Amino acid sequence: MTGGGVRAVVRRLRGKASIELKSPGEIEAMRAAGAVVARTLRLLECHARAGVSTGELDELAEQSIRDAGAIPSFKGYHGFPGSICSSVNEQVVHGIPSREQVLADGDLLSLDCGAILEGWHGDAAVTVHVGTVVRADRKLSTACRAALEAGIAVARPGGRLTDISHAVESTALAASAAHGTSYGIIADYGGHGIGTAMHMDPFLPNVGRPGRGPRLVPGMALAIEPMLTAGSDKTEELGDGWTVVTVDGCRAAHWEHSVAITEDGPLILTVE
Ligand code: MG
Ligand code: MG
Repeated sequence: MTGGGVRAVVRRLRGKASIELKSPGEIEAMRAAGAVVARTLRLLECHARAGVSTGELDELAEQSIRDAGAIPSFKGYHGFPGSICSSVNEQVVHGIPSREQVLADGDLLSLDCGAILEGWHGDAAVTVHVGTVVRADRKLSTACRAALEAGIAVARPGGRLTDISHAVESTALAASAAHGTSYGIIADYGGHGIGTAMHMDPFLPNVGRPGRGPRLVPGMALAIEPMLTAGSDKTEELGDGWTVVTVDGCRAAHWEHSVAITEDGPLILTVE
């Protein structure tokens, strides 16, 4: 799930940012939570096909998380009803899974999942092609994933927070040029600190100049999550109070990993 929205209001109320630092042992505990998320997302990827509803994927996710002895962090978060966010086509993030929403061949589906294990949070998202892969969608998703990887690569001691923002943005712009298009880079939502809570300081923008914001130090953990669209970067929230869609109806992709900053560089936590 992304930072921004409700989270931004909470952050303003809390005032000055304070960033939770984890010990190496605590980072290991976060890896265990992250592995639950990674395993669950892999399971969902296997089941995301035409004729399956996002509600069914949600049930699979909850079972997978609870079978691992973990808690689905999204469920009940500010009243969110699902254990995953499932965002189809023009839905960017925070889509509510439903038995009524049946996947169709050619859909582009973002699956976002979070779990709490022994008090530590993991949060990750993947974008999945349902059945037939639409060429433009593949490029969009590839660009978004490359932006995530570029952001992760600079999440290392000695840097500043917005080095990540800049890496995400510049990689998305380079992909736009390479693909002969102009991807929208969502700036209304972004990444976030993560650890003993899902959404912690700092908010991590997906655009901006490098070299600003808090220094990156070992023990920080960040959810890095670029969102790209095939058109405008303008979004709106649907009447359900959650689902974020593109205003122009174009498709969107979303990739996310929770990452720890260590002496040795970035450590991806949401892998098996
Ligand atoms: Mg997420
Ligand atoms: Mg997140």
